Parts: sequence; C-alpha cells; structure tokens
Amino acid sequence: MKSPIYDYLHHVLENVRPDASGRVAGYIDVLAKADPSRLAVALATVDGHLYSAGDDTVEFSIQSISKAFVYALAIEDNGLEYVLSKVGVEPSGDAFNHLSLQKGSHRPMNPMINAGAIATHSLVGGPSATAEERAERVLDVLSRLAGRRLQVDEAVYEAELRDANRNMGLGYMLKAAGILSRDVDPQEVVKGYIRQCSIKVNVRDLALMAATLGNGGVNPTTGEEIIPHDSVRQVLSVMTTCGMYDSAGDWVSRVGIPAKSGVSGAIIGALPGQIGLAVFSPRLDDKGNSVRGVSMCEKLSTDMGLHMMDIS
Ligand code: GLN
Repeated sequence: MKSPIYDYLHHVLENVRPDASGRVAGYIDVLAKADPSRLAVALATVDGHLYSAGDDTVEFSIQSISKAFVYALAIEDNGLEYVLSKVGVEPSGDAFNHLSLQKGSHRPMNPMINAGAIATHSLVGGPSATAEERAERVLDVLSRLAGRRLQVDEAVYEAELRDANRNMGLGYMLKAAGILSRDVDPQEVVKGYIRQCSIKVNVRDLALMAATLGNGGVNPTTGEEIIPHDSVRQVLSVMTTCGMYDSAGDWVSRVGIPAKSGVSGAIIGALPGQIGLAVFSPRLDDKGNSVRGVSMCEKLSTDMGLHMMDIS
C-alpha cells in the first residue's frame, strides 16, 4: 500500500542508485555472481510496523550479521562472565578475518570478527551441546527473530566450506589457545559457523531482527521474548564499537546507530526504543561494508534524526 513512508523509502533508494562504486565480494563464486544492481531497504518500528522498498524479497546469505545474534545466544547459554573470559569486547582495527588473539589473555578481540565469532559459535547451547544442536539452535533463533522459518543456502555453505582454510586456521588457533574447550572439534565448530553465515534472509527479515534488538529482545510483530534484556544491551554495545569491521569509528560518527554488516552487502542498524533497519546492496568498499548500504543508512540517520548522539 502507498504511504508517505513508502514514498520516502523509494526516495532513499533512488538517491543512491546511480552509485556503482565498490566491488561485490569475490572470495567465493556464489557471492561473486550476485547481481550488483540489487538494492533494498526496510524499516521496522518497535511497535510492529514494517516498511520496505526495492528488492525487498530477494534473499542473500546473512554472513557476518549473524554474529551479533549468536553472541546473544552464547551469553544466554553460558552467562556473560564466562563469554567474556573467552571473547573480548575491544575493537580490533584489523580486517574481519585477521589471524590474531589478544596478548596475555589469548582471547579473540571481539565477537564480530571471525575469530571471536567462531569462539562464540562454539558456546551456543552450553558445554554439552553437539554440533547439530548448535546449528539447530542458531537456525531456530534466527527464524524466530525473523518471524518465519529460515533456510540455509546450501550452495553458499558448500562454496564457503571448499574455501575455508583461513577460518579453519582460526579454529585451530583458538583450540591451541584453549579458547575452544577440550572436547570441541575445531573443524566441526568452523563448519557450524559457516552454516550460520549461510542462512538466507531478505531485508524484511533483517529489519525485524534488528527491531527485536531495538525492542529489548521482544520481537515487535510476534510479541515473543527472544533475547534476554541484559544480553541486548551487551550486543548493542559491541555492535556500536565493533559492528562495522575496521570502520567502526567512521560509522559511529557519520551514522551513529549500533550496526552490523555482512559481506553479502547487507547492514542492520538497531536503535533502542525506536527502530530496526536493514539495507542491501552487494557492492562493498575496501573494508567489506556495502557502499550504497552505508550511504542509505547515513541518509536515514540524518533525515530521521536517528544519530544516538543527537538530542531527540
Ligand atoms: N562467511 C564469511 C567469512 O567467514 C563471513 C564474513 C563476513 O560477512 N564478513 O569469511
């Protein structure tokens, strides 16, 4: 149905449409073949209204955006103190797939880079969970956040697995450092992490997932409490400082919304008590963030006064 918000979202899309800068992620075929012209935006309010425009039903793999939600699961299943003993909360300033651990503690810097996300995935379901239980818990919770049953993109999963040397290397590094527990097989954990990244979503799913964070963990359309309130605060804090890879500082000053991006070209933003937003455009900048996605978020933030440092 036509509404002023719908017109506005179209305006947001048309404003960035001509920008053809950046490059589609090329490390696996399935992503390299993504249609670079795809463009979509969605907004979900914490009172349950969902608006979207453009290629809003086109599905893509969730990739690193999953890291924020799986961090919430790890906290729920193990307690925050335990998770903090395994994964830090400091921005790394390095690329998302950087191979290093913090000096002294040997923890990954934060849960939003691959090392931290692999460690976080291993904690899902608590110490006795099997690889299948971890995978099923992740898919189940992401589905409940989206309000519909999601599926894994098997082609993305297989392709990522064929080219998983770096992530497998991170898995073994975490095992050697004692971050992965003794009875956990690094290969199984990395496979689970890759499966988590391969879950298919569209911008409407992502906006609802983000709005759930903005709504204190309660899905605003189904009313289900999915993420405990305390974990939401932790997740949004880490998204603020570490969600946009190594351009977190630029992002916070320009857009000012806790956010997470993924290599398929999507970004989510969640503003407590207000809104969840999601954008999609596959061409990435040199940090791995969607070029037109960042521009759309900047425009939404400015036009709607969403910057967290603005007086509302
Ligand atoms: N599956 C990708 C990886 O682990 C996800 C990375 C991303 O979205 N930045 O390399």
